Amino acid sequence: MLAQAQRGGYAVPAFNIHNLETIQVVMETAAEMSSPVILAGTPSTFSYAGSDYLIAICQQAAERYKVPVALHLDHHEDIPDIFQKVSAGVRSAMIDASHFPFEENIQIVKQVVNYCHQWDCTVEAELGRLGGQEDDLVVDAADALFTDPDSAVTFIQQTRIDSLAVAIGTAHGMYKNEPRLDFDRLHKIRQKTEIPLVLHGASGIPDADVLRCIDLGICKVNVATELKIAFSDAIKHYFLENPEATDPRHYLVPGKAAMKAVVMDKIRVCKSAGKL
Ligand SMILES: [Zn+2]
Repeated sequence: MLAQAQRGGYAVPAFNIHNLETIQVVMETAAEMSSPVILAGTPSTFSYAGSDYLIAICQQAAERYKVPVALHLDHHEDIPDIFQKVSAGVRSAMIDASHFPFEENIQIVKQVVNYCHQWDCTVEAELGRLGGQEDDLVVDAADALFTDPDSAVTFIQQTRIDSLAVAIGTAHGMYKNEPRLDFDRLHKIRQKTEIPLVLHGASGIPDADVLRCIDLGICKVNVATELKIAFSDAIKHYFLENPEATDPRHYLVPGKAAMKAVVMDKIRVCKSAGKL
């Protein structure tokens, strides 16, 4: 999916899913817009929902809708946990060892690649370090490190990863200050490497900047925070107007509608509509 996006000059949106409702909304909308899509789950999403439930729901969704879809392990760090999920059916995994020193990052990623490739599972890894909070992981902005283009070349050669998450100034969560992205750095990384590049922390980045990243070679854009905010804001609003509400089949509906608007917008920004 990412190789095709790279050739076609668009990006595949990766939405962090949390429950049945998020999966329904993402898949329905992707099918309506004929967009390939990635369903991403962090370790805590898998443990919240139960890996078996989550995998089964996603497999069912893949059968129901005729769009290219992958269930992806987002920011996984525990190697036995990755192996277990891959053997249970997942075919796309991110091993995040970016907090380790360079050599150690390579060694950890290599182990995961060796295993995953035997299962036809693609592997994403990160070089550099994003600030902000993802799952239970908090990185102070001062500890964020940008991806070095030359190190990226070595990293890809030695690990044989399938896609690389780059740190170019985005952060996880919403931004307190206007983010400044290092487009020159992205351009250099793209010139020196060949595999698909991934943008994390895209929530709150102006559309024009995301589009510029896609033009500069990003072919997977991760969206998490914006979906969560849309979902919960709409439900809060519903309860303010309907304080007596008790039926989840009623109060979840406006939450789903609000998420749908975000999914449509991200597919538009990624230019992935009609790219089956
Ligand atoms: Zn991320």
